[in-house]
Amino acid sequence: MKLGLFGGSFDPVHLGHLLVAQAACEELGLDRMFFIPAAQSPFKPGQQPMPGAMRLRMLRLALAGKSAYEVDAQELERGGVSYTIDTVRDYGRRFAGAELFYLIGADHVAKLPQWREAAELARLVEFAVIPRPGEAAVAFPAPFRGRRLAGFPLGVSSSEIRSRARGGLPLEPLVPAAVAEVVRNNGLYL
Ligand code: ATP
Repeated sequence: MKLGLFGGSFDPVHLGHLLVAQAACEELGLDRMFFIPAAQSPFKPGQQPMPGAMRLRMLRLALAGKSAYEVDAQELERGGVSYTIDTVRDYGRRFAGAELFYLIGADHVAKLPQWREAAELARLVEFAVIPRPGEAAVAFPAPFRGRRLAGFPLGVSSSEIRSRARGGLPLEPLVPAAVAEVVRNNGLYL
């Protein structure tokens, strides 16, 4: 069994995330794909994300009806800073023998050696990298293993969505309609 693990802040989830997931499913032939929102990213220490329940709600709406996709709230439930190694160990226990692919945008490749318990993480998962426009192709730093996917490169980011919301600009189709509605109705990111 091949499993895709897609961690991130998803603050909010956007079309770039959905295209990452679709490319990974198609190019890697994944059986299941898990979106795993972080409680607090170790790489964004100064940034307080939107409460987990709200990010989770937007993620669930964005993925509604997509049967290959699942949302895993374990990092939100653990709370504190979310470390990928803890989550990956959990998948290793729950799905013994499965091939685990951890999805990342190209912006993360060079920083992989800084991830907690890097050597153990590199042993447990293969990374699948999706190009982000403007990011040069970087070789995997040892001992990480991975492959680069062709993907559907799109330069949208959650920061851009938050800044558009602040500026009163339309969010669709950069986020699904249901997500845009939650942002609007709750006055998020103003
Ligand atoms: P922010 O702008 O707040 O930093 P983000 O858009 O990068 O957020 P995250 O939820 O932090 O979104 O990203 C989760 C993962 O998805 C990361 O590995 C990130 O590199 C990747 N990712 C996000 N957007 C894209 C995109 N447009 N193309 C490829 N990868 C992406």
